[in-house]
Amino acid sequence: MKKILVIMLAVLMLASVVCFASCKKEDTLTVYTEAGFAPYEFLYEGEIVGVDIKIMQAVADKLGKKLVVEDVNFDSIVGAVKTGKADAGAAGITITAERAEDVDFSIPYSSTEQYVIVKADNTEITNMETMTGKKVGVQQGTTSDFLIDGLIKDGAMAGTELTTYDAPSLAAAALGTKIDAVVTDKLTAEVITASSNGAYKTFKLTKADGSDVAEVEQYGIAVTKGNKELLDVINEVLEELLANGSIAKWEKEYNDLYSTVEE
Ligand code: GLN
Repeated sequence: MKKILVIMLAVLMLASVVCFASCKKEDTLTVYTEAGFAPYEFLYEGEIVGVDIKIMQAVADKLGKKLVVEDVNFDSIVGAVKTGKADAGAAGITITAERAEDVDFSIPYSSTEQYVIVKADNTEITNMETMTGKKVGVQQGTTSDFLIDGLIKDGAMAGTELTTYDAPSLAAAALGTKIDAVVTDKLTAEVITASSNGAYKTFKLTKADGSDVAEVEQYGIAVTKGNKELLDVINEVLEELLANGSIAKWEKEYNDLYSTVEE
C-alpha cells in the first residue's frame, strides 16, 4: 500500500513538472519582430512599441495570455515561426507566395509600395533608370532586397551595387557616404525622411516613364502552419481593428511618436 502511495506521489510530481513546462508556454503568446521598422515596430524609451505590437497585444488580451515580444533580425522571423519557436511573426511582413510555403498568413491589415530615400540635395536619382549603376541599400531579407536583387540579376538594374543592412534606418544613415539610395516600404521611408530634419527626401520607386516597378504589397501576421486556432483569433482581432479604424489611427500616432525619437 505504502509503495503504491509513493508511486502515485511520484507520478503526481512528474505530472506537475511536465505541466509547469508546457503550461507556462501555454500562458504566453511569443511574437517575433524586428524593432527597426517604424511605425510598425521601433524602440521608444527602451520598449518595443508600434502598430504590430498594438495588434498583438489585442490578440494576447483576447486569448487571456501574456504577450512576449522578441526583437530579432527580420530575415530570421519566418523561420522561427515555421519551426514554432515563435507563435507568430508581426513585423510589417509582406505576404508573398514563397513565405506562404513556410507559414500561414492572416488577412492583410495594411498595404505598401516600394519607396526610395536619397539625400535631399540629390537631383540625379529620381527613378529606377537613374538609380541603375548606383549604390543601393536595403534591409536584409526584405521584399526591397528581393526586388532590387532581382532587377540587378535580370538586367533591368545591371551594374547596381546592392548592400544589405539590419534595418532601413541603418541603411539611411549610410546615405551620401557608402550608398546613394535606400529602397524600403512606403511608410517606413516616410517616417525616416520626416525625422531626418530635412536631410533626406523620399519618392515612390517607378520607371522613368512613370510606370510601376513592383506590385502593391500587403502586410500579414505570420503563424506556424496549421495553427488555425491562433490564426482565427488574429483574423477576428484584425477585422475589428480595421473596421473601427484603429490600425489607421495607430499608423498615424506611431508615425508622430517616431518623429520625436532621437536617432
Ligand atoms: N514588408 C517588407 C517585407 O516583408 C519589409 C518588412 C520589414 O522590414 N520589417 O519584406
